[in-house]
Amino acid sequence: MGKSTTGNLQMNCELCTPENELLLWENGLCRVILVEDAHYPGFCRVIWNQHVKEMTDLTEDERQDFMQVVFAVESVVREVMHPDKINLASLGNMTPHLHWHVIPRYISDMHYPNPVWSSPQRAGMPAAPPDWRVNLARQLGQIQPHRKALSCHENSGSGQE
Ligand SMILES: [Zn+2]
Repeated sequence: MGKSTTGNLQMNCELCTPENELLLWENGLCRVILVEDAHYPGFCRVIWNQHVKEMTDLTEDERQDFMQVVFAVESVVREVMHPDKINLASLGNMTPHLHWHVIPRYISDMHYPNPVWSSPQRAGMPAAPPDWRVNLARQLGQIQPHRKALSCHENSGSGQE
């Protein structure tokens, strides 16, 4: 275990062997998916493609590449969803495969001001902006990688050697 798992796919990991992911963007290193949650429109997840457990298992460059995508997604979610707050979260206790949650939060949502994984506070169902799905997909499609390592977006490979 430990670092030796870097680059391996684990069959029992739902992020290594995803089913029914709604993919919005990918670049060979990581991918952005839309989390289908009726209570949380615009909830996105940024997933490192390889089965890596901790941020410090990545190289410095990889960490920067990964976080630049997370920040780009945050910017798009803010612009499209107009939330009262963004929650960035990386837990991975249940699924120890690097991923970041980018969650638009509203003071009227089901759990505010607590984390979305806590006990519900109310029957919240935020009114999402019209056409948010189209706008989110379109703007995420325009994420520009800052680093050269990210330009493998245009390569045909899946990021594996
Ligand atoms: Zn995995």
